[in-house]
Amino acid sequence: METALQKPVQYLKGVGPKRAQLLERLGARTVGDLLMYLPRVWEDRRETPPGQGASDAPLILRGRVTGVREQRAGPHLVLFIAKLQVPGHGAVDALWFKRPSRSYDVFQGLRRELAASPELWIVGRGEPGLLKIRQINVSEHYLADDPRTSLHVDRLVPVYPTTEGLPERRLREVIAAAVEEFSGGLHEMLPERLLIKREMLALPQAIRGIHHPRSTAELEEARRRLAYEEFLLLELAWTMKHRQIRQVSKGYGYDVRRSLLSPFRAQLGFEMTGAQKRVVNEIFDDLQKPYPMTRLLQGDVGSGKTVVAISALLLAVENGYQGAFMAPTEILAEQHHWTFQKFLHDLPVRFELLTSRVPKKARARILSRIAEGEIDVVVGTHSLLEEDVKFRNLRLTVVDEQHRFGVRQRTTLRQKGPPMDFLLMTATPIPRTLSLALYGDLDVSTLDEMPPGRVASLTRHADEGTAFAFVRGQVKAGHQAFVVYPIIQESSNLDLKAAVAEHERLSREVFPDLRVALVHGRMPGERKVRTMEEFSAKKWDVLVATPVVEVGVDIPNATVMVVQNADRFGLSSLHQLRGRIGRSDAESHCFLVAEPKTPEAHQRIAILCETNDGFRIAEEDLKLRGPGEVLGTAQSGEVALQAGDLSRDGELLADARGDAQELLAADPELADPGNDGLRRGLLTRYENRWKSVDLA
Ligand code: ADP
Ligand code: MG
Repeated sequence: METALQKPVQYLKGVGPKRAQLLERLGARTVGDLLMYLPRVWEDRRETPPGQGASDAPLILRGRVTGVREQRAGPHLVLFIAKLQVPGHGAVDALWFKRPSRSYDVFQGLRRELAASPELWIVGRGEPGLLKIRQINVSEHYLADDPRTSLHVDRLVPVYPTTEGLPERRLREVIAAAVEEFSGGLHEMLPERLLIKREMLALPQAIRGIHHPRSTAELEEARRRLAYEEFLLLELAWTMKHRQIRQVSKGYGYDVRRSLLSPFRAQLGFEMTGAQKRVVNEIFDDLQKPYPMTRLLQGDVGSGKTVVAISALLLAVENGYQGAFMAPTEILAEQHHWTFQKFLHDLPVRFELLTSRVPKKARARILSRIAEGEIDVVVGTHSLLEEDVKFRNLRLTVVDEQHRFGVRQRTTLRQKGPPMDFLLMTATPIPRTLSLALYGDLDVSTLDEMPPGRVASLTRHADEGTAFAFVRGQVKAGHQAFVVYPIIQESSNLDLKAAVAEHERLSREVFPDLRVALVHGRMPGERKVRTMEEFSAKKWDVLVATPVVEVGVDIPNATVMVVQNADRFGLSSLHQLRGRIGRSDAESHCFLVAEPKTPEAHQRIAILCETNDGFRIAEEDLKLRGPGEVLGTAQSGEVALQAGDLSRDGELLADARGDAQELLAADPELADPGNDGLRRGLLTRYENRWKSVDLA
């Protein structure tokens, strides 16, 4: 039976070479693939009860044809009307519209069908507003005496994403035939013990239930079972990957000497928060392990990640190693470089900034000093690693704002050179569900405390006039302001024009007496950085910006932010943006200028006005937008979930995680014959996708 599932789809009745090709385009090459080709949605196509009338949902009726007629409905339209007697509803006119043809009778087929089988189901739209259905525009009809009809109406009907040339109903029929004939032969990969423990349906039942559920309860049971299986495989893969990473011996170690760390702390000018101290300890413990560190440091904007990163880098330097600090943009790299200057100026640490702004000659000199080991820490952008900068003994790399790196990029990072320690930092807190699903190879440290004396910024939904009046007041008081515009379309110049035009308007009409600067993403890097430097040196009062200021910029004197068209930003972006203010002990204010048009946009704005808690916002963002949007499709595609839904299956995923760990503790290589199914499932699913799930 197992082999039947591996047969090409063409083996199925009703599938010829052409249809097989179309199915392959959907990713279904074998019968087994087809069984696992899951519906996206299920349409409730049970019969519309009398008295319900027409609404947005299609009407579903079963009736008997009592008469037909045809008429012209316009110059290019003919109409076929069947009078139906529908039990409970009475007489209903069913209407089919078509373009007439000179060469043949467009309604001939239909007329014959109805003459031979006058009993039929129709799916279509009625006139809204009337409680009694009198006529219906037919979009689909099914003859009651056709055995396939029960697949398409009178039930929860599966809707599959299809492709051009393959009508939805044909696809549904092909899949139904496959399910009917072959689901019994599906190989159960979950050990029976787990099926019992988690009260899961057997696989054949789940497959039948997800394709052809008899009730929403059955559907949910089936989906839950299939989601659990996906999650279990995913967590097995992560747990094994996690273990593999820790089986590599890095061949060097660290001693905490404090020759740099103590003076660094002494001249910081503030005491580290409890959370910073705890996290530094977690990192130091990790660095002293025999295997390379891959740790994710998450902390809300402004929680003080940089100081933690510098502590780790100093430990490397104390031990005679080199470190690298990489930021996603040049502005941020510059910013970090200033921070280094501020915190390390009296310490014997040699650090350099390496970005595309550094002139050629200077760059060559820096590169050779890096290669000679005459530079301890290099600060640059993420391209540092790609540019093949040769280090003498690079041991620790800090990657700032890494949340957009997927598992493949992390793997590439690790496999780049000899073993090395990685500290990845993100200011977008990652909801636990996502971190279980997507960061299973990482250890996570969390900064859950803000430096003392911070006054949370007040956020409100306001009109532009109110916001600008406030900006003026703050500037009078010696502060500075951001005015931010969304990127409307990455590929067009519209956003740029908007920001440029707005800069004009603000400097001429709104704030003619203030100094108004502009930065946007398309500016040459050098001008961008210069403008930020000038803003930081208080040469400007108001900075008009596209979201290039989103991450990392640290200008404590800026106490107001006005976000224009705030309804066009996602929750996390808005939270990141406003993290640019509220960086001193002065009260800060964020104005969201928006006319939200959807309930979701309203909700986003309300959430931001209500809370400053990045973790809560991340959870809400996940609920509102779903994982694909939050993480980008590439990253969420790496785990390729079909039945599982990360925005609502958190508990199930956590269960699967626990079960995966238990399984592997007892049987580390899944060598036990009872775990054979899981082992094979794991290989087919993740071996190629991740390149490095090794099963001995
Ligand atoms: P983020 O986590 O967003 O990267 P930063 O590292 O930029 O945050 O820190 C934000 C600001 O807070 C910086 O100006 C930094 O010097 C300051 N800071 C960091 N830790 C503390 C602390 N323990 N006490 C006071 N200020 C701190
Ligand atoms: Mg930062």
